[in-house]
Amino acid sequence: MSQETYPDFSGTVAGEASHNIFRHTEMPVLAVVIPCYNEAEALPLTMPRLLEVLDTLVDSKKISPSSYVLCVDDGSKDDTWQCILDLHKKDHRVRGAALTHNRGHQYALLAGLMTAAPHCDAAVSIDADMQDDPCAIIEMTDCFRNGAEVVYGVRRSRATDTWFKRNSARAFYKLQNAMGLQSIYDHADYRLMSSRALGILSQYREQNLFLRGIVPLIGLQTAIVRYDRHERVAGDSKYPLAKMLAFSVDGITSFSAKPLRWIFMIGLGLLVTDIAVAVYVLCSYFGGDTISGWSSIMLSIWFLGSLILMAIGVVGEYVGKVFTEVKARPRFNIRETI
Ligand code: UDP
Ligand code: MG
Repeated sequence: MSQETYPDFSGTVAGEASHNIFRHTEMPVLAVVIPCYNEAEALPLTMPRLLEVLDTLVDSKKISPSSYVLCVDDGSKDDTWQCILDLHKKDHRVRGAALTHNRGHQYALLAGLMTAAPHCDAAVSIDADMQDDPCAIIEMTDCFRNGAEVVYGVRRSRATDTWFKRNSARAFYKLQNAMGLQSIYDHADYRLMSSRALGILSQYREQNLFLRGIVPLIGLQTAIVRYDRHERVAGDSKYPLAKMLAFSVDGITSFSAKPLRWIFMIGLGLLVTDIAVAVYVLCSYFGGDTISGWSSIMLSIWFLGSLILMAIGVVGEYVGKVFTEVKARPRFNIRETI
């Protein structure tokens, strides 16, 4: 990327963008992408802190002076967009993209990353509330300059979380792992990605976005940076419990067809139990210990019940195949060619 020229984002309208040809330059252009929903209170406090981090990196000649912050207004109902325009007027490194309506954090983040991808060498995603320590961007940039192309921000502790949030998150990670999803423990969406990693990300075309599950599938060299999690600088959380649970269910069902297979396994388990039930029913029948009709009803309920569950499970196997096919994910990602 050329020095001190600011990008023209007008080409990105919908979907993904072509990515910048990846090079490890001495002074990479860094884009900091922030999804913003009703963050008019937080942004004026957040921006100076992020620009200060950019200044530090530019002064130490670790990134290009044309590095910038891209705020994505996710259809906010408050003055977030006006606030972004005002911040842009004060400092041209603050850039903005406004979505047509509220799509949710994951989609706003993807929109920002795909908008920035052709105009940067690496992009860091961070929330608008500064709960994630922005100073970790410095260490992330060092990792990038040392060759890592995906750098995960991982929380050092969950001390500021409530007991419920801490334990529900832990249980959720365990469940995800049991389902075969490779997610990074205590990593949310605070991460750096090279423009090549962003280009690969744009090939994952699924509608149900769960970025922290997709990014580990990209491959490439990765690194981890640990940071402390703080309280929000201003405003309220946009992730109430109901939204968090829906997000967790999405995370599992977008990556795993295992629940469908479980139906078959339960059916199979019941079929085996049938033998014991049949022995019990027949013993009672021949012992004369039954009323008329009980034995036949018992046997057919158990036998048909397990057959029906197994049949649903077989259908589930096919639905599972359709589920993975319709995602049309790339089957391989090439790191380099000569
Ligand atoms: N956000 C968004 N669209 C939404 C909800 C949230 O872009 O529909 C943004 C929000 O502005 C913030 C980030 O996503 O920058 C994370 O939200 P929040 O901090 O409220 O989540 P929490 O940290 O409480 O889980
Ligand atoms: Mg937050």
